Amino acid sequence: MNINIEKCVGCSWCVKDCPVDAVTLENKKAKINDELCVGCRVCFRVCRYEAVEMEPVSLDRTVECDHCPIKCRIGQGHLGACRRYENQDGEIIRLDQPLTFDDVREYVAPAPKAELREPVITAIGVGTTYPDCRPAPGIVRQKRGDVEVVTVATEVPLSYSSVLVKIDTDVHIGNQGAPIIYDGREVGMLETEQYGSKMLHIGGVNRLTGGAAGFAAARAITEISNHRPVKLRIKDGARLEIQIGQPPVINGEAAGNMRVGCGSATTGIFASMFVEAADEVMVLDSHITGQLSRHVAGQVAGAKPTGVEPIFPMSTPGRYFGDHGPGWGGTSITDPRALIKSIDMNVAWTGMTILITETTGQNGAMFEVQSDGSLKDIPIAPKAQAALEAIRETCEPSLVSAMYTAGSGGSARAGVCRYPIKLTRAVHQSKVVVTVGGVPAYVMPGGGISFFVDVGQVKPGSFSWTPTPATICPLEYTMEVKDYEAMGGHVEAMKPFPAKEPKGE
Ligand code: SF4
Ligand code: SF4
Repeated sequence: MNINIEKCVGCSWCVKDCPVDAVTLENKKAKINDELCVGCRVCFRVCRYEAVEMEPVSLDRTVECDHCPIKCRIGQGHLGACRRYENQDGEIIRLDQPLTFDDVREYVAPAPKAELREPVITAIGVGTTYPDCRPAPGIVRQKRGDVEVVTVATEVPLSYSSVLVKIDTDVHIGNQGAPIIYDGREVGMLETEQYGSKMLHIGGVNRLTGGAAGFAAARAITEISNHRPVKLRIKDGARLEIQIGQPPVINGEAAGNMRVGCGSATTGIFASMFVEAADEVMVLDSHITGQLSRHVAGQVAGAKPTGVEPIFPMSTPGRYFGDHGPGWGGTSITDPRALIKSIDMNVAWTGMTILITETTGQNGAMFEVQSDGSLKDIPIAPKAQAALEAIRETCEPSLVSAMYTAGSGGSARAGVCRYPIKLTRAVHQSKVVVTVGGVPAYVMPGGGISFFVDVGQVKPGSFSWTPTPATICPLEYTMEVKDYEAMGGHVEAMKPFPAKEPKGE
């Protein structure tokens, strides 16, 4: 890499982002240490002033690392961009030793006792006590082997509550951060995407308590958590009809399959079929669009250079950053020809075939390169059809799922025991198991009892809402009776379960 001193303004972005600290600022100009530079192109990509010029790293004094698509050229005694691999006397070595579970056990919270994993009763239907400093409505004990177990159950009103909805689709539904509208009011926002899924976050305390939209947000959380169909609109984006366990309906069309992986992963998985299917294969994807001939997997499978240049900017060879839109693979491309910026006929040849598809294999088109570099539509060849079919068969169906997430407030904990701080500590020490309608909750680390639960497993209809506004969640705490006593539990309110214990117990 080389710095064009005339263009460099000394903003230091390349200094901060270079993963191997190869760039420094001298007299307010970037300077690259060639000994350390591995050619990862981060500086090239972050520079807004086109001051970084591509120049290959010396092949003599470096070794190529093949553990990721960056393919760093690492000099003797130096590290690759990931800072895990080092060139030691011409060999690329992973610096850390593999660890066993025993090596990391001290960092992992202990698993709760088997006897505590299921609540004695669920909170569904037990009711709510108000004010919460009185004992919770359901406090029941049961002997399980040698262990005396108690479950404290309440249908708790929670204003710190929301639902994180996962929609498995690569269809573009709106921009990250866009408001979500339900019954004409803003109830949430489009979240960070997950792998092959769009994420919607609905509710949260500021929306629930923030005026007229609060009731709509509480209703939306409740309806979704109860597995009922809900219609939403993304501002400047899609109309959605969602229901837990069902395919999402996006702009009136039921989504089919979720993608098998990004375009690069799809190229990697199906490379051996793709080389049989066409001379060049391109897999459109809004995240990473793949190109067989330049992808490492394509080269391993025997793909030859084709001179085809896609329109998207390159991440690493054969992997290109896509964009977002209503087209194939969630990109803006509705006509697959538009993916190709140019074809270098010094490399390509007349009759060369190109297959373009997307990460679900749903759409596919095949072309033949003409002597003047233009493309002719041709029918999809049988081996290309087989490759598209293989992608489709590897995809999972698109579904809607959701995690209800909430924080159990101080007053709600007072209904469990007299020293709520002891309850919180016991939860984080795995001495208390938190469940929602009998479904294990994941308690977030740090302070308090903030949790996630998969509403798909909770009996439909178990949630409700109240106009405080808050959503009402069937919450259970299960622990040993001795621990319950130690936290000042309302032991006087404990009832046996079943109401009449079997003889001999
Ligand atoms: S990012 Fe570009 S302009 Fe900024 S210091 Fe680096 S080379 Fe110079
Ligand atoms: S190519 Fe990568 S390693 Fe080399 S200077 Fe730029 S950011 Fe640093």
